[in-house]
Amino acid sequence: MKDYLLIGQGIAGTLLSWHLLQAQKDILVIDEARPDTASRIAAGIINPVSGRRFETAWEYDRIYPFAKDTYAAMAALLHTDTFVERDIFTVFPSAQMQAAFHAKTNTSPYIQPVVENRYAHYLQQEHGAAIVKGATVLLQNLLPAYRRYLAQLGCLQEAVFDFAALELHDNHVSYKGLAAKRIIFCEGPAIARNPFFNFIPFLPNKGEALHIKIPGFFTESILKKSIMLVPQAPEHFWLGSTFAWDFPDTAPTAAKRAELENGLQQLLSVPYTVTGHKAAIRPSTTDRRPVAGLHPQYPQLGVWNGLGTKGCSLAPLMAWHFSQLLENDIPLPPEIEIKRFFNRWKA
Ligand SMILES: Cc1cc2nc3c(=O)[nH]c(=O)nc-3n(C[C@H](O)[C@H](O)[C@H](O)COP(=O)(O)OP(=O)(O)OC[C@H]3O[C@@H](n4cnc5c(N)ncnc54)[C@H](O)[C@@H]3O)c2cc1C
Repeated sequence: MKDYLLIGQGIAGTLLSWHLLQAQKDILVIDEARPDTASRIAAGIINPVSGRRFETAWEYDRIYPFAKDTYAAMAALLHTDTFVERDIFTVFPSAQMQAAFHAKTNTSPYIQPVVENRYAHYLQQEHGAAIVKGATVLLQNLLPAYRRYLAQLGCLQEAVFDFAALELHDNHVSYKGLAAKRIIFCEGPAIARNPFFNFIPFLPNKGEALHIKIPGFFTESILKKSIMLVPQAPEHFWLGSTFAWDFPDTAPTAAKRAELENGLQQLLSVPYTVTGHKAAIRPSTTDRRPVAGLHPQYPQLGVWNGLGTKGCSLAPLMAWHFSQLLENDIPLPPEIEIKRFFNRWKA
């Protein structure tokens, strides 16, 4: 009997399976090979501050060092780069933002003023700019390399998980001839079709991103104004992202492309070309915190989801907490506990 079946190899399933393998557990990850998932189109940005007041992100002082160490350990095992610390060159869109930043410079270790006139030829920065100390997770390296690693271990099944074939027993589950002590759903926005966890309130939102080329422009920094530009290769950038809560399908739209290009034109002073356009759904809960834990009636079923806009920073530490609950019965941080939604569950 396996210890765990995990459904989904986005950033959630990747990090949880990593911690379970580190704990020597016998696992199988079932994932359909879809290119248009949030984890596969995201830029992997880790940003320590958010909002107009540059507030430090939730639990960042614990989350960031843990994430950095975890991605470094994965890089060493997978023989691929997974993580790059980067300056986020933040261009102020207004004098108010500039003032808010200056009010924070002495209290936040993550932000610092820009003294020299950097990128003057390329960027419009009439209200000045600041440096925020961030990072990117190289998802385009990490996810396929980790998938190959799972396959080499015999821990990957590339397939669509079929709920009709799942059988619940007293202390385990079975699925198409496989038995496991537990099954953990890490299925991102597909949780909407999960009959066991559909009581968790989700506010899925669609995000779109462009890939662009800026001839002659080379930088290792992320560039931010109303949009983010993330370097992918010399002259090539990821440009994102948009938000939509009401959407008929998951296809890229002309309207959001126009919104992104409009934001870009507020920042860039030089020509560019669009080379790609992608869209995917972010799995966000209504209280914007991840959700982890076991089903109220069937403890052989678990869920790990709700990473919203911050999968890359949250997943390493929060998946580790979940592995500690699963293996050592150590309670989860209350903010991510599924129990906060049990009042919505009907047997
Ligand atoms: C445009 C955009 C930009 C973003 N930028 C960033 C960023 O810069 N930084 C950041 O931290 N976050 C970013 N995010 C958010 C981040 O992508 C998400 O938080 C994260 O990817 C969610 O990961 P997940 O594993 O929960 O879900 P997903 O990425 O959706 O993965 C779920 C996996 O489960 C599989 N699956 C689902 N159902 C089944 C089934 N029945 N059978 C088999 N497999 C199944 C899917 O195929 C998929 O592989 C961005 C999101 C978008 C859309």
